[in-house]
Amino acid sequence: MIDGHTRVLGVLGCPVEHTKSPAIHNSLAKEMGFNLAYVPFRVEREHLQDAVKGAYGLNILGLNVTVPHKSEVIKGLVDIDPLAKQIGAVNTLVRVEGGFKGYNTDMPGLLRAMKDDGVTIEGEKVVILGAGGVARAVAMMLAKNGATCIKMYNRTLEKAQAIAKEINEVEGKSIVEAYAMTELSALPKEQKYLVIQTTNLGMSPEIEGAPVEDGAFYDMVKVGYDLIFNPLETKFMALCKAHGARAYNGLKMLVYQGIIAYELWNEVTVSEELAHKVYDSILVNFANN
Ligand code: NAP
Repeated sequence: MIDGHTRVLGVLGCPVEHTKSPAIHNSLAKEMGFNLAYVPFRVEREHLQDAVKGAYGLNILGLNVTVPHKSEVIKGLVDIDPLAKQIGAVNTLVRVEGGFKGYNTDMPGLLRAMKDDGVTIEGEKVVILGAGGVARAVAMMLAKNGATCIKMYNRTLEKAQAIAKEINEVEGKSIVEAYAMTELSALPKEQKYLVIQTTNLGMSPEIEGAPVEDGAFYDMVKVGYDLIFNPLETKFMALCKAHGARAYNGLKMLVYQGIIAYELWNEVTVSEELAHKVYDSILVNFANN
């Protein structure tokens, strides 16, 4: 019930019409009995800074930020969390004195999702497919959580090299190795890998795509984690499973990044029981659409 006490939350993006975030946050608010309404805001690039200022003026409690604004939004903030600063991307704005403080809940969200799925990072050799904005953050997260070696493969080798150089400097050791996607066939075969798929290949509507087709590669996959969540089973995931590996999509990451944002806005802890309930309802929502 929207009334005079309702606080507004939302997501800034362009396009924003396909967002699942309202379903996540409105069901959290309902379950926890909070008087909140979460809405999508389609914000064009040239209006981003005005939108952030306007949101503060309108007493909006908090915002998510999605494509293409995650880096550009930073210049309009009064403060930034160290993790978001290091990643260089903000997906959550929390209202503070004089403006908004930026956080990145994508990586903590992925970490919580992987823990929930029983996927270990500590001591693992990891392959990352892709070297975009998310891949860079994933590599940082893996380096900080005990991965022993991160092999990053990308169509554009220079992008993987730039990420490897940056993270190896920050970590003070050579933990990320950069390769061209065409070099995957030379991946050492003596062991199995945790593989994180961060390219756009296989995302709806082009669901026939996968970054690798070679069955010999999939024989080396122990766990395949695709950050795509539409479709719920990508071709990459199907190939992992066909070669005996466990495979997961990015829907749980999406739900947990939302839950962590919700915890920041409302200064609450969302129980794992409620997190699973929200995840199940989003899964049903997906299956019905
Ligand atoms: P991005 O910066 O645009 O990077 C895209 C990556 O995909 C690059 O490595 C790019 O390679 C590669 N790629 C794109 N088209 C390709 C093609 N035809 N052949 C080979 N490689 C290709 O995107 P991003 O922001 O990192 O996002 C990556 C993925 O993460 C998206 O699918 C997005 O949906 C997903 N994501 C999921 C969540 C979640 O909550 N689950 C959150 C954020 C993002 P080049 O460098 O060679 O162009």
